[in-house]
Amino acid sequence: MSIINSFNKIKQEIKDNDPTLQTEIIAVSKTFSLEHIKPLIDYGHLHYGENKVQEAEKKWIALKKNISSLKLHMIGQLQSNKAKKAVEIFDFIHSLDSEKLAKELCKRQKEKEKNLKYFIQINLGSEEQKGGIQINELKNFYNFCNKELKLSVIGLMAIPPNDGNPEKYFQKISDLNNEIGLKKLSIGMSNDYKLAVKYGASHVRIGSAIFGKRN
Ligand SMILES: *Cc1c(COP(=O)(O)O)cnc(C)c1O
Repeated sequence: MSIINSFNKIKQEIKDNDPTLQTEIIAVSKTFSLEHIKPLIDYGHLHYGENKVQEAEKKWIALKKNISSLKLHMIGQLQSNKAKKAVEIFDFIHSLDSEKLAKELCKRQKEKEKNLKYFIQINLGSEEQKGGIQINELKNFYNFCNKELKLSVIGLMAIPPNDGNPEKYFQKISDLNNEIGLKKLSIGMSNDYKLAVKYGASHVRIGSAIFGKRN
């Protein structure tokens, strides 16, 4: 299937699940060349996700100058020493997960007079190899980012453990979002976006189901 057909099929499935929910599809373009992604850009889709600052810079800086409505989402772990570049290129950061990083992003976006939108990443399964804060740290961390640093935190993000039980985790993160009063939810990937939409995903991050297998 072509990229456009795959994209439209996913869009329709999301609509069928919940026509009222305006779920944004983030086309995760990591590892794919611009040549490969281009049909979707030409088609007019505006939201793309990358997980590495350097790769994102190479691929997107020139394009973003030409198409000012393009939005780029950082979905991978971000080290604070890359915050400056991240602020230059991204519009959304889904992986806010430490005070050090939050402070650095705050400082850098002031310098650049930018105001990015942020998701706090939660490590729902306390998995060592994954980023994200622990559930019991959420309230303090949210207050720190929101009240002290005045970052525009719009919701929570998670990559649930791969244990065949995504619904349990989607329910959990949706509850947490309600508890702290946030509206947006970044959950759902190629394998589970239909379920994620049932739990109120405002942003799904879909790579391989649109662009094909990654090497
Ligand atoms: C790669 C990636 C995705 C997309 O994964 P697919 O299974 O290809 O849809 C989503 N979220 C994050 C954080 C990723 O790193």
